[in-house]
Amino acid sequence: MFSDRLSEFFTDQLGEWDLARTNYRQLEKVQTRSMVFQGFQVLVQFNPERIRSSAAEVDDKSIGKRQCFLCEKNRPPQQRGVPFESEFTILVNPYPIFRRHLTIVSGYHTGQRIRYNFGSMLSLAEVLPEYVIFYNGPQCGASAPDHLHFQAGNRGFMPIEKDFSSGRFAGRVFTRKGAEVWHWKDYLRGIISLKGSQREPLETLFHLFFERFDDIRHEGPEPMLNILTCKEDDQWIIHIIPRKQHRPVQFYAVGDDQIILSPASVDLGGVVITPREEDFNKITMQDISNIFGQVCFGDTHLHQMILEIK
Ligand SMILES: [Zn+2]
Repeated sequence: MFSDRLSEFFTDQLGEWDLARTNYRQLEKVQTRSMVFQGFQVLVQFNPERIRSSAAEVDDKSIGKRQCFLCEKNRPPQQRGVPFESEFTILVNPYPIFRRHLTIVSGYHTGQRIRYNFGSMLSLAEVLPEYVIFYNGPQCGASAPDHLHFQAGNRGFMPIEKDFSSGRFAGRVFTRKGAEVWHWKDYLRGIISLKGSQREPLETLFHLFFERFDDIRHEGPEPMLNILTCKEDDQWIIHIIPRKQHRPVQFYAVGDDQIILSPASVDLGGVVITPREEDFNKITMQDISNIFGQVCFGDTHLHQMILEIK
Protein backbone atom coordinates (compact mmCIF):
# COMPACT_ATOMS: atom_id res chain seq x y z
CA MET A 1 0.00 0.00 0.00
CA PHE A 2 1.11 3.51 -0.75
CA SER A 3 0.78 4.71 2.83
CA ASP A 4 2.95 1.84 4.11
CA ARG A 5 5.58 2.75 1.59
CA LEU A 6 5.40 6.34 2.70
CA SER A 7 5.72 5.45 6.35
CA GLU A 8 8.86 3.44 5.56
CA PHE A 9 10.22 6.35 3.55
CA PHE A 10 9.62 8.65 6.51
CA THR A 11 11.58 6.42 8.86
CA ASP A 12 14.40 6.10 6.34
CA GLN A 13 14.66 9.86 5.94
CA LEU A 14 14.93 10.38 9.69
CA GLY A 15 17.66 7.77 9.76
CA GLU A 16 19.78 9.33 7.03
CA TRP A 17 19.14 13.07 7.32
CA ASP A 18 20.52 14.74 10.46
CA LEU A 19 18.61 17.99 10.15
CA ALA A 20 15.27 16.24 9.88
CA ARG A 21 16.07 13.80 12.68
CA THR A 22 17.11 16.63 15.03
CA ASN A 23 14.05 18.72 14.26
CA TYR A 24 11.59 15.83 14.70
CA ARG A 25 13.28 14.98 17.98
CA GLN A 26 12.98 18.62 19.09
CA LEU A 27 9.30 18.50 18.30
CA GLU A 28 8.76 15.91 21.02
CA LYS A 29 9.83 18.51 23.57
CA VAL A 30 7.92 21.40 22.07
CA GLN A 31 5.92 23.55 24.49
CA THR A 32 2.18 23.75 23.99
CA ARG A 33 -0.53 25.79 25.68
CA SER A 34 -4.17 24.92 25.50
CA MET A 35 -6.90 27.55 25.41
CA VAL A 36 -10.46 26.53 25.99
CA PHE A 37 -13.08 28.62 24.21
CA GLN A 38 -16.85 27.96 24.19
CA GLY A 39 -16.79 24.22 23.62
CA PHE A 40 -13.61 24.03 21.58
CA GLN A 41 -9.91 24.22 22.08
CA VAL A 42 -7.11 26.14 20.42
CA LEU A 43 -3.57 24.91 21.00
CA VAL A 44 -0.61 27.27 20.90
CA GLN A 45 2.69 25.70 19.88
CA PHE A 46 6.03 27.40 20.53
CA ASN A 47 8.03 26.38 17.48
CA PRO A 48 11.15 28.51 16.81
CA GLU A 49 12.08 26.64 13.61
CA ARG A 50 8.88 27.90 12.00
CA ILE A 51 10.16 31.49 11.96
CA ARG A 52 11.28 30.78 8.36
CA SER A 53 7.72 30.25 7.37
CA SER A 54 5.87 32.68 9.65
CA ALA A 55 8.10 35.63 8.87
CA ALA A 56 8.88 34.71 5.25
CA GLU A 57 9.05 37.68 2.92
CA VAL A 58 6.59 36.68 0.23
CA ASP A 59 6.44 39.83 -1.88
CA ASP A 60 7.54 39.49 -5.52
CA LYS A 61 10.79 41.35 -4.98
CA SER A 62 11.99 39.19 -2.09
CA ILE A 63 10.84 36.02 -3.85
CA GLY A 64 12.73 37.07 -6.98
CA LYS A 65 15.96 37.43 -4.98
CA ARG A 66 16.00 34.05 -3.26
CA GLN A 67 16.62 30.54 -4.52
CA CYS A 68 13.46 28.48 -4.47
CA PHE A 69 13.84 25.86 -1.72
CA LEU A 70 11.20 23.61 -3.30
CA CYS A 71 12.89 23.26 -6.69
CA GLU A 72 14.70 19.95 -6.98
CA LYS A 73 18.01 21.53 -7.92
CA ASN A 74 18.07 23.56 -4.70
CA ARG A 75 16.92 20.89 -2.29
CA PRO A 76 19.45 19.37 0.12
CA PRO A 77 20.96 16.13 -1.24
CA GLN A 78 19.70 14.18 1.80
CA GLN A 79 16.11 15.14 1.05
CA ARG A 80 14.78 12.34 -1.12
CA GLY A 81 11.27 12.11 -2.49
CA VAL A 82 8.50 9.70 -3.42
CA PRO A 83 6.83 10.42 -6.79
CA PHE A 84 3.09 10.98 -6.77
CA GLU A 85 1.08 11.07 -9.99
CA SER A 86 3.14 12.42 -12.85
CA GLU A 87 3.63 15.90 -11.47
CA PHE A 88 4.34 15.68 -7.75
CA THR A 89 7.02 14.53 -5.32
CA ILE A 90 6.33 13.83 -1.65
CA LEU A 91 9.02 15.09 0.74
CA VAL A 92 9.58 14.99 4.49
CA ASN A 93 9.18 18.54 5.80
CA PRO A 94 12.38 19.23 7.76
CA TYR A 95 10.74 21.97 9.89
CA PRO A 96 7.78 20.08 11.33
CA ILE A 97 4.67 21.14 13.19
CA PHE A 98 3.29 17.58 13.10
CA ARG A 99 4.87 14.33 14.28
CA ARG A 100 4.53 13.35 10.61
CA HIS A 101 4.76 16.35 8.30
CA LEU A 102 5.07 16.15 4.52
CA THR A 103 5.46 18.68 1.74
CA ILE A 104 4.13 17.64 -1.66
CA VAL A 105 5.79 19.66 -4.38
CA SER A 106 5.17 20.07 -8.08
CA GLY A 107 8.01 19.12 -10.40
CA TYR A 108 7.57 22.51 -12.06
CA HIS A 109 8.48 25.89 -10.66
CA THR A 110 4.97 27.18 -11.17
CA GLY A 111 2.92 29.52 -8.99
CA GLN A 112 0.89 28.40 -5.98
CA ARG A 113 -2.65 28.13 -7.44
CA ILE A 114 -5.55 25.94 -6.49
CA ARG A 115 -7.96 26.37 -9.41
CA TYR A 116 -6.62 23.49 -11.52
CA ASN A 117 -5.01 21.58 -8.67
CA PHE A 118 -7.87 20.93 -6.27
CA GLY A 119 -8.32 17.43 -7.74
CA SER A 120 -4.75 16.54 -6.74
CA MET A 121 -5.59 17.38 -3.13
CA LEU A 122 -8.44 14.88 -3.24
CA SER A 123 -6.12 12.28 -4.75
CA LEU A 124 -3.56 12.86 -2.02
CA ALA A 125 -6.20 12.50 0.70
CA GLU A 126 -7.20 9.24 -0.91
CA VAL A 127 -3.74 7.66 -0.90
CA LEU A 128 -2.75 9.14 2.46
CA PRO A 129 -5.70 8.34 4.74
CA GLU A 130 -3.58 8.88 7.85
CA TYR A 131 -2.98 12.51 6.94
CA VAL A 132 -4.83 15.79 6.59
CA ILE A 133 -3.76 17.44 3.32
CA PHE A 134 -3.67 21.21 3.38
CA TYR A 135 -3.20 24.11 0.99
CA ASN A 136 -2.07 27.61 1.89
CA GLY A 137 -2.80 30.17 -0.79
CA PRO A 138 0.01 32.43 -2.07
CA GLN A 139 -1.10 35.16 0.33
CA CYS A 140 -2.40 32.89 3.05
CA GLY A 141 0.67 31.50 4.71
CA ALA A 142 2.54 29.78 1.88
CA SER A 143 6.23 30.54 2.26
CA ALA A 144 6.87 29.57 -1.38
CA PRO A 145 4.06 31.35 -3.26
CA ASP A 146 6.04 30.84 -6.47
CA HIS A 147 6.16 27.03 -6.36
CA LEU A 148 3.01 24.88 -6.30
CA HIS A 149 2.87 22.67 -3.21
CA PHE A 150 0.63 21.10 -0.59
CA GLN A 151 1.43 19.91 2.90
CA ALA A 152 0.19 17.00 4.95
CA GLY A 153 0.18 16.35 8.68
CA ASN A 154 -0.83 13.28 10.66
CA ARG A 155 -4.49 13.13 11.58
CA GLY A 156 -5.76 13.56 15.12
CA PHE A 157 -3.67 16.63 15.93
CA MET A 158 -5.69 19.64 14.75
CA PRO A 159 -8.84 20.32 16.80
CA ILE A 160 -10.85 21.15 13.64
CA GLU A 161 -11.10 17.41 12.88
CA LYS A 162 -12.97 16.44 16.00
CA ASP A 163 -14.86 19.73 16.14
CA PHE A 164 -16.33 18.88 12.75
CA SER A 165 -17.30 15.33 13.66
CA SER A 166 -18.80 16.38 17.01
CA GLY A 167 -21.54 18.16 15.03
CA ARG A 168 -21.51 20.94 17.58
CA PHE A 169 -20.34 23.77 15.34
CA ALA A 170 -21.00 22.58 11.80
CA GLY A 171 -24.37 21.82 10.28
CA ARG A 172 -25.37 20.60 6.83
CA VAL A 173 -27.05 23.27 4.71
CA PHE A 174 -27.77 21.36 1.50
CA THR A 175 -26.81 18.34 -0.57
CA ARG A 176 -26.19 18.25 -4.29
CA LYS A 177 -25.57 15.01 -6.20
CA GLY A 178 -24.55 13.35 -2.98
CA ALA A 179 -22.10 16.10 -1.98
CA GLU A 180 -22.94 17.94 1.24
CA VAL A 181 -22.29 21.59 2.06
CA TRP A 182 -21.77 22.44 5.73
CA HIS A 183 -21.70 25.76 7.51
CA TRP A 184 -19.85 26.49 10.76
CA LYS A 185 -21.11 28.73 13.55
CA ASP A 186 -19.58 30.19 16.71
CA TYR A 187 -16.11 28.97 15.90
CA LEU A 188 -14.20 32.32 15.66
CA ARG A 189 -13.49 31.80 11.95
CA GLY A 190 -15.89 31.25 9.10
CA ILE A 191 -15.54 27.86 7.42
CA ILE A 192 -17.43 26.10 4.63
CA SER A 193 -17.09 22.33 4.61
CA LEU A 194 -17.87 19.83 1.87
CA LYS A 195 -18.39 16.14 2.40
CA GLY A 196 -19.02 13.27 0.04
CA SER A 197 -17.78 10.06 -1.49
CA GLN A 198 -17.91 11.14 -5.15
CA ARG A 199 -15.15 13.28 -6.53
CA GLU A 200 -17.04 15.01 -9.32
CA PRO A 201 -19.81 16.79 -7.34
CA LEU A 202 -17.25 17.87 -4.71
CA GLU A 203 -15.04 19.39 -7.39
CA THR A 204 -18.04 21.13 -8.95
CA LEU A 205 -19.07 22.62 -5.61
CA PHE A 206 -15.53 23.70 -4.84
CA HIS A 207 -15.34 25.52 -8.16
CA LEU A 208 -18.67 27.24 -7.60
CA PHE A 209 -17.40 28.60 -4.28
CA PHE A 210 -14.06 29.47 -5.84
CA GLU A 211 -15.77 31.56 -8.54
CA ARG A 212 -17.91 33.24 -5.90
CA PHE A 213 -14.80 34.18 -3.87
CA ASP A 214 -13.16 35.33 -7.09
CA ASP A 215 -16.05 37.75 -7.70
CA ILE A 216 -15.42 39.58 -4.44
CA ARG A 217 -11.64 39.58 -4.75
CA HIS A 218 -9.90 42.93 -5.13
CA GLU A 219 -6.31 41.96 -5.81
CA GLY A 220 -3.76 39.16 -5.88
CA PRO A 221 -3.34 36.11 -8.09
CA GLU A 222 -6.32 34.14 -6.73
CA PRO A 223 -9.00 34.43 -4.05
CA MET A 224 -7.39 34.05 -0.63
CA LEU A 225 -7.97 30.58 0.76
CA ASN A 226 -6.81 27.89 3.12
CA ILE A 227 -8.08 24.37 2.53
CA LEU A 228 -7.79 21.22 4.63
CA THR A 229 -8.96 17.82 3.48
CA CYS A 230 -8.86 14.20 4.55
CA LYS A 231 -10.62 11.01 3.60
CA GLU A 232 -12.47 9.06 6.26
CA ASP A 233 -14.82 6.09 5.90
CA ASP A 234 -14.77 6.48 2.14
CA GLN A 235 -15.81 10.13 2.32
CA TRP A 236 -13.78 13.23 1.67
CA ILE A 237 -14.13 15.99 4.23
CA ILE A 238 -12.99 19.36 2.89
CA HIS A 239 -12.74 22.53 4.97
CA ILE A 240 -12.54 25.74 2.96
CA ILE A 241 -11.48 28.84 4.88
CA PRO A 242 -11.74 31.96 2.72
CA ARG A 243 -9.54 34.81 3.87
CA LYS A 244 -9.86 38.57 3.86
CA GLN A 245 -6.37 39.35 5.10
CA HIS A 246 -2.91 37.79 4.90
CA ARG A 247 -1.43 38.86 8.23
CA PRO A 248 -3.03 40.59 11.22
CA VAL A 249 -2.04 44.07 12.43
CA GLN A 250 -0.18 42.53 15.37
CA PHE A 251 2.31 41.03 12.91
CA TYR A 252 3.43 44.50 11.79
CA ALA A 253 3.22 46.20 15.20
CA VAL A 254 6.38 47.16 17.05
CA GLY A 255 7.57 46.51 20.58
CA ASP A 256 5.22 44.87 23.04
CA ASP A 257 2.28 44.99 20.67
CA GLN A 258 3.96 42.80 18.11
CA ILE A 259 2.94 39.15 17.76
CA ILE A 260 4.63 37.14 15.02
CA LEU A 261 1.72 35.00 13.93
CA SER A 262 1.04 34.50 10.27
CA PRO A 263 -2.15 32.44 10.10
CA ALA A 264 -2.27 29.51 7.70
CA SER A 265 -4.20 26.23 7.50
CA VAL A 266 -2.75 24.71 10.67
CA ASP A 267 -3.39 27.82 12.78
CA LEU A 268 -6.96 28.00 11.53
CA GLY A 269 -7.25 24.25 12.09
CA GLY A 270 -6.74 25.07 15.76
CA VAL A 271 -2.97 24.81 16.32
CA VAL A 272 -1.56 28.32 16.47
CA ILE A 273 2.17 28.47 15.82
CA THR A 274 4.26 31.11 17.60
CA PRO A 275 7.91 31.01 16.54
CA ARG A 276 8.96 33.53 19.26
CA GLU A 277 8.91 32.55 22.93
CA GLU A 278 7.71 35.99 24.02
CA ASP A 279 4.64 35.65 21.80
CA PHE A 280 4.00 32.14 23.05
CA ASN A 281 4.00 33.42 26.62
CA LYS A 282 1.99 36.57 26.17
CA ILE A 283 -0.66 35.63 23.60
CA THR A 284 -4.16 35.62 25.09
CA MET A 285 -7.50 34.15 24.07
CA GLN A 286 -8.60 37.67 23.15
CA ASP A 287 -5.61 38.00 20.81
CA ILE A 288 -6.49 34.76 19.07
CA SER A 289 -10.09 35.69 18.72
CA ASN A 290 -9.09 39.12 17.41
CA ILE A 291 -6.54 37.72 14.93
CA PHE A 292 -8.93 35.07 13.55
CA GLY A 293 -11.55 37.80 13.17
CA GLN A 294 -9.17 39.99 11.16
CA VAL A 295 -8.05 37.34 8.70
CA CYS A 296 -11.25 35.30 8.24
CA PHE A 297 -14.82 36.01 7.22
CA GLY A 298 -17.62 35.76 9.75
CA ASP A 299 -20.32 33.06 10.00
CA THR A 300 -23.13 35.15 8.59
CA HIS A 301 -21.20 36.26 5.54
CA LEU A 302 -20.36 32.68 4.60
CA HIS A 303 -23.87 31.46 5.32
CA GLN A 304 -25.12 34.03 2.84
CA MET A 305 -22.65 32.76 0.23
CA ILE A 306 -23.78 29.17 0.78
CA LEU A 307 -27.40 30.18 0.29
CA GLU A 308 -26.50 31.98 -2.95
CA ILE A 309 -24.76 28.86 -4.27
CA LYS A 310 -27.71 26.74 -3.23
ZN1 LIG B 1 10.72 26.28 -7.26
